[in-house]
Amino acid sequence: MTGARDLSLPKTGRNPNSPSDEESVERTSPKSDVNVTLSAPAGQVFPTLTPEQVARVAAHGRLRPVRGGEVLASAGQQVESFFVVNAGSIELVRRSEKGEEIVAVQRPGQFTGEINMLSGRQALVTLRVGESGEVIDVKRDDLLALVQTDSELSDIFMRAFILRRVELIAHGFGDAVLIGSSFCQGTLRVKEFLTRNGHPYTFVDLDRDSGVQDLLDRFGVGVGDVPVLICRQNVVLRNPSNLEIADCLGFNEAVDQARLRDILIIGAGPAGLAAAVYGASEGLDVLVLESEAPGGQAGSSSKIENYLGFPTGISGQELAARALTQAEKFGAELMIAKGARRFLCERRPYAIEIDHGPRVAAQTIVIATGAQYRRLRVENLARFEGAGVYYGATPVESQLCRDEEVVVVGGGNSAGQAAVFLAQTAKRVHVLVRATGLVESMSRYLIRRIETNPAIVLRPRTEIVALEGANHLERVSWRDNETGAVTTHDIQHVFSMTGAVPSTSWLEGCVATDEKGFIKTGPDLSDEVLAASRWPLARRPYLLETSLPGVFAVGDVRRGNVKRVASAVGEGSIAITFVHEVLHE
Ligand SMILES: Cc1cc2nc3c(=O)[nH]c(=O)nc-3n(C[C@H](O)[C@H](O)[C@H](O)COP(=O)(O)OP(=O)(O)OC[C@H]3O[C@@H](n4cnc5c(N)ncnc54)[C@H](O)[C@@H]3O)c2cc1C
Repeated sequence: MTGARDLSLPKTGRNPNSPSDEESVERTSPKSDVNVTLSAPAGQVFPTLTPEQVARVAAHGRLRPVRGGEVLASAGQQVESFFVVNAGSIELVRRSEKGEEIVAVQRPGQFTGEINMLSGRQALVTLRVGESGEVIDVKRDDLLALVQTDSELSDIFMRAFILRRVELIAHGFGDAVLIGSSFCQGTLRVKEFLTRNGHPYTFVDLDRDSGVQDLLDRFGVGVGDVPVLICRQNVVLRNPSNLEIADCLGFNEAVDQARLRDILIIGAGPAGLAAAVYGASEGLDVLVLESEAPGGQAGSSSKIENYLGFPTGISGQELAARALTQAEKFGAELMIAKGARRFLCERRPYAIEIDHGPRVAAQTIVIATGAQYRRLRVENLARFEGAGVYYGATPVESQLCRDEEVVVVGGGNSAGQAAVFLAQTAKRVHVLVRATGLVESMSRYLIRRIETNPAIVLRPRTEIVALEGANHLERVSWRDNETGAVTTHDIQHVFSMTGAVPSTSWLEGCVATDEKGFIKTGPDLSDEVLAASRWPLARRPYLLETSLPGVFAVGDVRRGNVKRVASAVGEGSIAITFVHEVLHE
């Protein structure tokens, strides 16, 4: 089962007449109303609205009588309405193989819904009327309009929705059961996909539960079929792809793929999510396409410590989950496991062909597909990423390896800069390159600094062949390719600086790039490049605009990017200013 995330949400502006959270728990949530152990105060997870707040919600919905036993929404069906109880009660019912369980009961002033209310994905619990009475029925679109205009209600709903999702995850109350082994790469992939999409699931570990293996054997599920995902209680997927999982769990069902959008954002890393938040909050119709899961590279960072406003750091997943909720709150839509395959850029409106999907069209495009770091070819690399293997050498990492030996892999300028920088604090820096030297790949000034620094040892024709450790990297083995000798060293920090490859192959020459494939924008586009690209307008491209009018590139995919979450977020938001300009042209 996945663990609960720490969501220290902002406090809502409290009505001075409304009860404190603790009082609210006393008054509105007697113990018998919540039948699970909550990790947050019940008054926050299941708050009660004041009569004035209920009246404000009622203005966006319709009152309707309900009878005991009536099902208002079923688990597995797309979420369409949000309900506030006016009289009587609503039970939140979970159905599992063990039978039916009433998770909580909502009474007058309380309301239904969790994160799915924003995305429009399938409900994870059934809503059934307990005592007959009356509810306010608010359609999903009307609720989205309400949270965008009423900041007090927005805070209360947002906090409750997020905390409820955290509880669902903590209790594994989802519609997905994953059966696999912690030592299997496929299992880790599926776990990561579900976790990064914030989807609750229950994990059955084959290594701990031999009975399950017997069961799988009896059903003819072989080793190659693991992991197995049982979704919606009855569909059995064997070693499913991310797309199959997304389809089965209905991640993209609520998205209208036929509508012409104001902006199509490709990539849901920090840059794309920022563009989505700013675009949607400024009233634009935004669709985001993401080939994997929200968060991008930042999503694989266990702790980002240099992002403004988070002095104790924040995990990349947490940051992405918050950004996604924010974007959806403003009405942005996201398609998961649906990458852009081809850009149809010859005419406007532009269109994108999606993996296993139709074309989607938009007036403007924001390319935020980032880059993928070239990764070491070592079997268990993923286990040590962020736990001994790093892709950047900032003061944060250099503090981690003060007075210790470190390895820098790579022969380019970024590797050279990292080596010189780390040598200021580390005991010894081993620079491993596969080539016979650095002359071909590194600037002369850096080579000189490396050669003259006694703390740096250059190891040509050498490559890492194994990484070992329990929870953190402990030992590194490398091979001298000239002699074939493999040696093992007690080294806990490896900096992989072998360069990043931009995710631009799908663009097929639609926009001008540099020789490495990074997209040129704004001032990078010379007159010659614009002429060669047949730039059709009298004005020059805006900042962050590519050689194609109305097409922007932001974050790590852009030439000259600085490989930081903050700069990616900044660029995503700046691009929206120019999107407005283009839409008014
Ligand atoms: C392990 C690690 C730790 C890091 N730590 C820090 C840190 O502490 N501080 C810091 O400031 N920076 C850090 N960085 C760098 C930072 O994460 C990046 O600079 C930032 O994520 C770039 O954001 P982006 O949105 O431009 O691109 P990305 O994060 O690369 O996101 C691009 C997204 O686009 C998607 N995509 C790609 N191709 C397609 C397609 N064809 N269709 C649809 N979607 C597509 C990808 O799946 C991905 O989700 C770290 C990077 C890594 C790898």
